[in-house]
Amino acid sequence: MPTDTSSEPAPPLPARAASRPGDLVVARPEGLYCPPGDFYIDPWRPVDRAVITHGHSDHARWGHNHYLAHEQGEGILRARLGADITLQTLPYGQAIEHHGVRISLHPAGHVLGSAQVRLEHGGQVWVASGDYKTEPDGTCTPFEPVRCDCFITESTFGLPIYRWPTQPELFAQIDDWWRRNAQEGRASVLLGYAFGKAQRMLHGVDASIGPIVVHGAVEPLNAVYRAAGVALPPTLRVTDPGVDATMLRRALVVAPPSAQGTPWMRRFGANASDAFASGWMLLRGTRRRRGVDRGFVMSDHADWPGLHKAIAATGAERVMVTHGSVAIMVRWLRENGLDAQAFATEYGDEDLADAPEAAA
Ligand SMILES: [Zn+2]
Ligand SMILES: [Zn+2]
Repeated sequence: MPTDTSSEPAPPLPARAASRPGDLVVARPEGLYCPPGDFYIDPWRPVDRAVITHGHSDHARWGHNHYLAHEQGEGILRARLGADITLQTLPYGQAIEHHGVRISLHPAGHVLGSAQVRLEHGGQVWVASGDYKTEPDGTCTPFEPVRCDCFITESTFGLPIYRWPTQPELFAQIDDWWRRNAQEGRASVLLGYAFGKAQRMLHGVDASIGPIVVHGAVEPLNAVYRAAGVALPPTLRVTDPGVDATMLRRALVVAPPSAQGTPWMRRFGANASDAFASGWMLLRGTRRRRGVDRGFVMSDHADWPGLHKAIAATGAERVMVTHGSVAIMVRWLRENGLDAQAFATEYGDEDLADAPEAAA
C-alpha cells in the first residue's frame, strides 16, 4: 500500500484489512480457516477438516468430516459429538504436516485436553490459542507460551477490572464457606460449568470437611478426568446408598448452573446455601442476577494481566482478537505498538451459555 502523503489527519484507529496475502489463518463464514492447509480451527459450521482446541461446545461442534485434537480431549469429544467421529489425536508438541503446513498442539491451561494450535508454513508461525488460562490449576497441563509471528487470542475477560484471586485464596474462601455451612447443618451447593469448572472445584477443595455429592451431568466428566490421571476426591450421587438428609446437611454439592431452580435441588432443603463460581462473579450485578448466596471468582479464562502476559510471551508483533472484549483489547494492543485486529467469530462463554437467564 502506498504511503499516505495527504495532509488529512489520520483517524485514530484506521480500519485495516483483517487479512493479507499469505496469512495462515483467515476468517470465513464457516470459521477460522488456514488457506494453505485447507482446514479450519474450531469452525462453527460443518466442514471437511477441523482442528479443535478443546471440548467446550462453542469450539467443538458437531458435523465435521475429520477432527484433529489433543489426545486428552478424545473422551470428551466422543462423548459429546458421537463415539464414531473420525478423530485423529496428537500429544502436546508432536507435529504433523498437512498440505505443507506443520501443525502441532501446545497446552492452553483451560480444561483437560485444551490446546493452542501452532501452524508453520512459508517461514511464518501462527498460533491460534482457543480459550486459555495462565495460572496452573492442577487439573490440566499448564499454559505454555509459544513463540510466533501472529497470535490469535480470546478476550473473554479483556477489561482491566478482571483480576483473579490466586488458587490458594480462592479455595480458602470456598472451604470457609463450606465448613461454616456444615457446622450449621446446611448443604453447600456450588454451581459451576460441568466440564472443567466442576473438576477444578473438586480438585481444589478440602475434602476432609464433609461428603461431596455431584449432579448427574458432572460425574461422567469426572470419570474422564480420573481416567487421565487427575486426582479428584471421592464423589457420590444423590441416589447412592447411604446418601440421606443427615449426610446432605454437611455435604458439598457440585452442580451445573442449569440445575439452579430445578426439582433436583429441592432435596438439599430450603436452608441450603448456594454459590456460583465464575469470573463474572466479580461484578455485583451478575451476583444479584444469579440470586445466589455467594459468588466465587473462578474462571477458566485468563484475567486482564494474564492476557497481556500471555500475548507478550509469544513475541508476536501481530495479534488477532476473536471473542470477548474485542474492541477494547484491540485498542489496548495498538496503543502498545502491536498490529492488532479483530476476527469475527461465533465463540461464546460457557458460563454464560449455561446460565438460566441466557435461555430466558
Ligand atoms: Zn472453553
Ligand atoms: Zn470459548
